[in-house]
Amino acid sequence: MNVTENISKIKNEIPKDVTLIAVSKTRTIEEMEKVYQVEIRDFGENKVQELVNKFENFHSDVRWHLIGHLQKNKVKYIVGKVFLIHSLDSIALLEEIEKRFKANNQIANVLIQINIGKDPNKSGIMKEDLEKLIEACERCENVKVKGLMTVIPKGDEESCRKYFKQMKKIYDDLSKKQYNNINMEYLSMGMTGDYKIAISEGANMVRIGEGIFGKRIYNNN
Ligand SMILES: *Cc1c(COP(=O)(O)O)cnc(C)c1O
Repeated sequence: MNVTENISKIKNEIPKDVTLIAVSKTRTIEEMEKVYQVEIRDFGENKVQELVNKFENFHSDVRWHLIGHLQKNKVKYIVGKVFLIHSLDSIALLEEIEKRFKANNQIANVLIQINIGKDPNKSGIMKEDLEKLIEACERCENVKVKGLMTVIPKGDEESCRKYFKQMKKIYDDLSKKQYNNINMEYLSMGMTGDYKIAISEGANMVRIGEGIFGKRIYNNN
């Protein structure tokens, strides 16, 4: 199947109120153009450099999502360019985002990334550390928390469901409380292999790469 067919298949499977992010990491502008042509405007990148390059060389009405780990020293490059940062995972990073966005009179919309599977190879905060991070977010002026994001460990359907359910529970608990600067609008979870399960457990934002573009080939030059 080609990119256009892949997208129409996915669109038929997901409800209208679920945002589909096309994860375009490693893909060329030409490949992305086919996706843009079928009205996709949300694109996800995991590296700052690649996001900035594509920001400068692709359509200006795209909403760019930074979905990969964000290093503090790279925050300055994305000010004014990202629609949503999915990977807030520490107070130190929060402070840097606050500082850089404030200096440019910009608001940063972010999701808190939770390492729900406590996977040592994945980023995200442990759920035990969430409260402290939330307190720090409440003191910010230029950072707005819009929800939660996770990347779950690989596993069977039962295992996926378990982690997605845990995320939805945290999301719902936070939704019920009143915080400064924090509003649960987006629950970003689900990728090519598990987006249907994620949606059935409450995701309203899915990040799909290979399911749209085909298998990724990493070029390590
Ligand atoms: C690459 C990536 C995706 C998309 O993965 P696919 O399996 O290609 O759908 C989603 N989220 C994050 C954080 C990623 O790095």
